[in-house]
Amino acid sequence: MPSDDNSFGFVFCGGGPAALGPIITASRSGRLDALLDRGIALVEPGPIGPGGLAHYRIGANSLGGPFMECLDGLEDGTALAALRDLPETRRLRALADEHPPLSVVAPFLARLGAVVAGFLEEHPRCAVVRERVTGIALRDDGVRVTTGDGRELTARRTVIATGGRPQADFAKAEIVPGLSLAPHQERVRHSESFIDARKDLPGAGGKVVVVGGSHSAWSVVHLMLPAVDEITVIHRTGIRLFYDSADRARADGYAFDPVLDVCPVNGRVNRYGGLRGRAHELARAALRLPGSDPLPVRLVQVDTPAARQAAEQALAEADTIVMANGFEADLPPIRHADGALFTAATGPTGTVVNDRGHLVDAHGTAYPQLVAYGLGAGLAPSKEVGGEPSYTRRADGVWLYQHDIGEVVLDDLLNHVTTTGETQR
Ligand SMILES: Cc1cc2nc3c(=O)[nH]c(=O)nc-3n(C[C@H](O)[C@H](O)[C@H](O)COP(=O)(O)OP(=O)(O)OC[C@H]3O[C@@H](n4cnc5c(N)ncnc54)[C@H](O)[C@@H]3O)c2cc1C
Repeated sequence: MPSDDNSFGFVFCGGGPAALGPIITASRSGRLDALLDRGIALVEPGPIGPGGLAHYRIGANSLGGPFMECLDGLEDGTALAALRDLPETRRLRALADEHPPLSVVAPFLARLGAVVAGFLEEHPRCAVVRERVTGIALRDDGVRVTTGDGRELTARRTVIATGGRPQADFAKAEIVPGLSLAPHQERVRHSESFIDARKDLPGAGGKVVVVGGSHSAWSVVHLMLPAVDEITVIHRTGIRLFYDSADRARADGYAFDPVLDVCPVNGRVNRYGGLRGRAHELARAALRLPGSDPLPVRLVQVDTPAARQAAEQALAEADTIVMANGFEADLPPIRHADGALFTAATGPTGTVVNDRGHLVDAHGTAYPQLVAYGLGAGLAPSKEVGGEPSYTRRADGVWLYQHDIGEVVLDDLLNHVTTTGETQR
């Protein structure tokens, strides 16, 4: 901690995969000194590195290999390169071409987090504060971040990567106009309750309805299948499966749009939105693609009046309804300089940020002092990075935080100039 005061260039709120991304990107691209010289305080009460992934009861939706790509091409002798020989890395490397359990990924990310914490602790202008952020106040010249022990850290800007929470009112959400969960809200649970070991696991049996088509939705199907009689998956758009190439998708009998569903950069089908790993296998079986095992899973895509009626009946008869509509950012309370509460804008895919990750308020104004991304906040990679044109949701993932999204945030932190007195909106 700098001895003179608690002032920094940036305060990073949270120390999970998203927060670490730009620091790792900086280290890999020779810009670590430039970043650390600005002064960073990273505030995280728990282990630095794995974030929520340490608590999920499921396998990774990515292969093991991409988690370790942050170690590629580094010169031997650097702190990051030294991670290659650790037992946690070797365990993950053994599953490089598989979808490893997140319980194998998390210890590797914790080791990575320890290296990043070391970068900060060894730098005279940086600090790691092992506390919660309890509040953020906007000031004319930046922000003031308060921590659980009452400390006040001032900074030009803050990076908020404190993870996600279920979207407000998820239990009463409208699936499509006129088809609402509200009449059934007593039986609605969020997917997080089943996946996250920190939550109390709700009992579920009999007939289950899962609403959504994401990895979380299919992870719940995976966790519940042995214990329930029948699962109905209600989804709005077609089931999106990931394939390495259009040829592979065709060979598998999967129907897709050859333009809208294919990434123009690398030719992958449903590169961002496609299901992978166990979720892919289950959804593939539910679609009854050739060679798949029969599953007690019924798909209802609510795009016709008849399908809507079937969905309404399934909801009415369900013992448990699981909503898997994602997350919004779990932001600490933020106040304007005059003490008024800052209200962040939210949309169907979570908390709204602009293409630089600047948090947007309920009136549509973006705040460069408040950089927010990670689980629940909607920073999408740029067009140059690619992705299928049909993908309209935000992009999440450890690899993206350490590469494309990390680049966007790092570039913004190093190059965005705000001066005292400037209206930073
Ligand atoms: C079910 C599920 C499975 C996923 N699987 C994968 C996968 O296999 N591969 C992949 O690449 N991505 C996956 N993701 C997407 C994404 O990579 C993870 O969600 C990732 O954990 C997001 O990182 P994060 O840093 O945004 O949030 P989190 O991992 O939630 O980390 C937030 C951090 O902030 C800290 N924090 C919270 N509040 C405060 C506060 N007030 N003050 C200070 N610190 C605070 C927390 O302690 C935590 O360490 C998955 C997401 C979900 C929901």
